Amino acid sequence: MSRLLDRLQHEIDVLDAQSLRRRRQIAETPCAPEQRLTLADAAAPRTMLAFSSNDYLGLAAHPALAAALAEGAARYGTGSGGSHLILGHSRAHAQLEERLAGWMAPHIPEAQSLFFCTGYMANLAVLSALGGAEAVIFSETLNHASLIDGTRLARAEVQRYPHCDMQALDAQLAACDAPVKLIVSDAVFSMDGDIAPVAELLALAERHDAWLVLDDAHGFGVLGARGHGVLEATGLRSERLVLIGTLGKAAGVSGAFVAAHRTVIDYLVQRARTYIFTTAAPPAIAHALLTSLDLIEGEEGARRRAQLRARIAQLREGVRTVLPADGSAWMPDSPTAIQPVIVGDNARAMQLSAQLDGFGLRVGAIRPPTVPAGTARLRIALSASHGEGEVARLVDALGRALGRTLTLKEAA
Ligand code: PMP
Repeated sequence: MSRLLDRLQHEIDVLDAQSLRRRRQIAETPCAPEQRLTLADAAAPRTMLAFSSNDYLGLAAHPALAAALAEGAARYGTGSGGSHLILGHSRAHAQLEERLAGWMAPHIPEAQSLFFCTGYMANLAVLSALGGAEAVIFSETLNHASLIDGTRLARAEVQRYPHCDMQALDAQLAACDAPVKLIVSDAVFSMDGDIAPVAELLALAERHDAWLVLDDAHGFGVLGARGHGVLEATGLRSERLVLIGTLGKAAGVSGAFVAAHRTVIDYLVQRARTYIFTTAAPPAIAHALLTSLDLIEGEEGARRRAQLRARIAQLREGVRTVLPADGSAWMPDSPTAIQPVIVGDNARAMQLSAQLDGFGLRVGAIRPPTVPAGTARLRIALSASHGEGEVARLVDALGRALGRTLTLKEAA
């Protein structure tokens, strides 16, 4: 073996020994219905009940979206043919951007939006373009990897502030006299499920003449009466807001958008390299997303959000009864679809995930570097398409895996 291969293999072996090696599995079906999916396995395909998808509203396998995607492909073809600034910017992309700008208009004066292939690219775009050499970025410690990578691409100085610590952030902002300040935070934290104190963050932005960049990947579609996300849920309004929403999670398709004052959006079109130098996503994706937005803000979306809320309440209530009394596994306070059970140790998280696997349940074990060292966890992700029975099955299996054999009925 060459020395390079030797080195790489050694690194993989070290990850393996620390229970940190990542593996993929092939899904033979979508996560539907009720988040059931069939995974390829060495012996035979296995059907599992998944609690690990970001398909929070259960729209990813919705027939209306599949039909809209097919209609979009028939109308626009399968490929965009080029980047947005050359010839890849279709009517469907423009309609989607207009629709999303309308959703954000109550919250951002003169709002416009810009569609990206992925949330990862949108986050790189915002931070690299707005975080110039004269800027300072104030980045929340638990921000998603794509925001962290955005700060790495930015030429700005980067200061991290402790999780949801408004006092610390206030002091850091007060001590900074840079002409451009960007506060950057997940709106819903992707591994903990808690919601950032967005009203306080915006108040600090106003007080210190800063921008507030919010990544609403896990709130869009889920939060707010019409599913418009964290800004609808909190009713905030400011020219200082830059909001990123992703469209591959609750929206059930793919892609992302940035919404901000029209000058910010125009600036991104000039300067955001992950917008300019990449092939535009297929117009059919944007076309399908128009149907997804109809579903999200209509009655069906409201019904699905109510179902999701009921499952969240049921899970939290149930898990509380099966957690070990010694505190070796615990659940932080999360009001969203993301419900972690933190166990600390990487191997224990892997073992619990494997035990649940044995019960036919797919729950991801999340380990460092995705989460801080010593906080390995099961990350339970709920969906509106889970039924009451599915969540009861998870609670029961979790109780057994954690060494308590109470069933929900016994616990009641
Ligand atoms: N932001 C957050 C908070 C996320 O959790 C994710 C994806 N897991 C992204 C951004 C990236 O979005 P996408 O998957 O569309 O690239």
